[in-house]
Amino acid sequence: HYGPGSTDNHGNIIVAVRKRPMSNKEIQKKDHDSISCFHPKIWVHSAKFKVDGITKYLTHTGFQFDHAFGEDSTTDEIYMATTMPLLDHVVSTQGRATCFCYGMTGSGKTYTMSAIQQILAHDLYEELKEQGIQVEVTLAFFELYGGFVQDLLHDRKRCKLLEDGKGEVNITGLQEVPARSAEDFLRIVSAGHSQRTTHTTEANDSSSRSHAICQVFLRDPSNGDLKGKLTLVDLAGSERGSDTKSHNSLRRAESAEINTSLLSLKECIRALGQKNTHVPYRGSKLTLILKDCFSPDSKTTMIATVSPGASATDHSLNTLRYADRIK
Ligand code: ADP
Ligand code: MG
Repeated sequence: HYGPGSTDNHGNIIVAVRKRPMSNKEIQKKDHDSISCFHPKIWVHSAKFKVDGITKYLTHTGFQFDHAFGEDSTTDEIYMATTMPLLDHVVSTQGRATCFCYGMTGSGKTYTMSAIQQILAHDLYEELKEQGIQVEVTLAFFELYGGFVQDLLHDRKRCKLLEDGKGEVNITGLQEVPARSAEDFLRIVSAGHSQRTTHTTEANDSSSRSHAICQVFLRDPSNGDLKGKLTLVDLAGSERGSDTKSHNSLRRAESAEINTSLLSLKECIRALGQKNTHVPYRGSKLTLILKDCFSPDSKTTMIATVSPGASATDHSLNTLRYADRIK
């Protein structure tokens, strides 16, 4: 079957899917590539069996998005389709825009987000120069993990979430770092990334259970007023959502929290796409933090990443269904 092909989201939401290549490990384990991309469609083939040496599939499930990127796609292509429109929006209207990567652990969220950041670093300063816009660029990069915010640019300092009387949400103690050039930008972002991985132990991979949020602020150099904001979110592994039967109660609570945040995010983006005035951003800490990303004039991209292997088919289908609900 096909999901409804047309995207009825008033043009403020872009939904893309990216399939990563088979890894050497998957090839060694004789896992099978069970996904095919025919832009803008993607097919998941399941229940593989062999007849006279020929591989056959029992079911084929198709989806259609704004973009479907196969394993041969380049990061340039992905940047142009998913992030460049957001940057244009931020720079030219002083608006808000957000790009999310959603998918199971190992499907390529961080890979895709890092590559986007590399291109964005250069594109941002070029765009500002071309348009003659004088702003100060600052960056914040933090993890939301187990309900806490940890500043990846300041030794994982813990910051508190505070809501003021006007319903504004502030992360107290989170410090923005000035980025005066593309080189600055890249250095800061890569320092943030290394804070994520150095604290990850194999048995306890916190990076798959945390949301990593990188915010690019454009500020008026004279008074610091906000002149645009681009947010890039590398979401927690979506498989955690279904991992609520764990024997470890801490893990179970974490999984439940991730589940809540991902479901809540879906509802918020849907509301945004339908131009609903009520966005249920209070449903989770993630959406509370991202509140201003859901204002009616903001633009959003969702990049759903999928692993190609047959062993990941259930997770891939869940990811595609999630993305399908957003468009
Ligand atoms: P996630 O952040 O979703 O857990 P990663 O981004 O860490 O997944 O990707 C898992 C592995 O797959 C990494 O080794 C990464 O380098 C590799 N990978 C992911 N996407 C691609 C891609 N499009 N092309 C080549 N390698 C990729
Ligand atoms: Mg990752």
